[in-house]
Amino acid sequence: MKETLVLYPSPGMGHLVSMVELGKLFLTHGFAVAVITVNSTYTTGAASSTATFMTRMSSAHPFLSFHRLPSVSLHPNASPHHEAHAFDLFRLSNPHLLSLLSSLSQSSPVRALIVDFFCTIALDVAAELAIPSYIFFTSSAASLAAFLHLPALHSKVTTSFKDLGDSPLHFPGLPPIPARDMPLPMLDRDDDAYKGFVAVFNRAPDADGIIVNTFVSLEPRPLQAIAGGLAVPGKKAPPVHCVGPLIAIQPKLRHDCLDWLDKQPQQSVVFLCFGSLGAFSAKQLHEIAIGLEKSQQKFLWVVRSPPNPVAALAPGGGESAKLTEAPPEPELEALLPEGFLDRTGERGLVVKSWAPQAEVLRHGAVGGFVTHCGWNSVLEAIVGGVAMVAWPLYAEQRMNKLMLVEKGLAVEMRGYESGAVEAAEVEERVKGVVEAEWGREARGRMELLRLAAEAAMADGGSSSVAVNDLVSKWKAGRR
Ligand code: UDP
Repeated sequence: MKETLVLYPSPGMGHLVSMVELGKLFLTHGFAVAVITVNSTYTTGAASSTATFMTRMSSAHPFLSFHRLPSVSLHPNASPHHEAHAFDLFRLSNPHLLSLLSSLSQSSPVRALIVDFFCTIALDVAAELAIPSYIFFTSSAASLAAFLHLPALHSKVTTSFKDLGDSPLHFPGLPPIPARDMPLPMLDRDDDAYKGFVAVFNRAPDADGIIVNTFVSLEPRPLQAIAGGLAVPGKKAPPVHCVGPLIAIQPKLRHDCLDWLDKQPQQSVVFLCFGSLGAFSAKQLHEIAIGLEKSQQKFLWVVRSPPNPVAALAPGGGESAKLTEAPPEPELEALLPEGFLDRTGERGLVVKSWAPQAEVLRHGAVGGFVTHCGWNSVLEAIVGGVAMVAWPLYAEQRMNKLMLVEKGLAVEMRGYESGAVEAAEVEERVKGVVEAEWGREARGRMELLRLAAEAAMADGGSSSVAVNDLVSKWKAGRR
């Protein structure tokens, strides 16, 4: 009988896809993998794509199964951030998780429960059943070091980050981070989302280990700060296992944009794409279009419909609206300047809503990437050896941007903070990332990182050794 690993991702496609990618890795080591998902009321819009993804995955992998917990009713919460609702959801789901895990354990030995960091409260369930528990952290080791240090910082600082403006926050192993660059739901210490994060990271060192989608040579300093106990003063440093870069390639039909890229010269195209949730106002889309047109640069641009202002104003709107509303297909002719598609058709391609990003970034024709700096996007750019222009939008993306700029892998799109980037800036950056000296240098550094990532994943490389260590531990029934 196969031994089982149980994965507990948070909603949101980005988290689910990365977690399943981790599960696929352990399938190759002979485990059965059970993925438990919550039945959330705040992600209904995304439900159909999530369901399609799960069906496809379970039919492709016989030992990968999906299990949905019963719904829970969430109490009203004044926080405008969906994270506050997520923390409630996981807390209320613990009894259901306990009963499902108990029944799974009866049919096959469960060797570990691996939870998304949002679901850290589930460590209580693992403890009750005496199952080893791990956290899977889907962002950088730098963010992990900062977040692990959040409870210590919280007890030292008495002001909300939003009131500290540009003042630097000091985290072990990281350059100073301006307070305003912390994730939006962490800015107000009276908000339930902030309190939830403090509780999560207070609890995180209790896990048997933290698995991170990164590789050691990419982020040695924050990893040393965690291992040396600096990130969690007064507590035992949690063992960290870097297993990345794990990149999900979606087994779909070949997208037309890849055929178009085949016809373009090497490293000539700038790719613009802003994660699974990023969307711009009609005005901002216009500015981007004008900048692209003036730049004369070859481009591949994924355009999504502007956010629905009514949904954003709904109760619990703002951030949560981004999750609940599956945006309609964009009307390109109406959204972009008149004649733009005809005038740029020779050297540019606009794709509606979604492109197979990981494959695009690996294509030799792509030389630059304008990105929102989501961590999966960063890893995919590294694996493609593509230089970046950083345009952070939400979550921990401003922190990721700081790291990328500090390492000379990206330059910043100026004006992103005010939410109004001008056409002239877009023009300069998209030209520069392909042609300017800084673009060439950044590409050179990314190429070195691409090789380092390959080495980490190869037999005997740091990430592959980390996976083998976890596997042998679990097979031996150890923590
Ligand atoms: N993605 C994609 N095509 C798109 C937009 C996004 O394939 O048009 C994928 C992208 O390759 C990445 C994920 O969606 O794997 C986005 O994850 P990331 O962590 O970068 O950002 P998030 O969506 O979580 O903000």
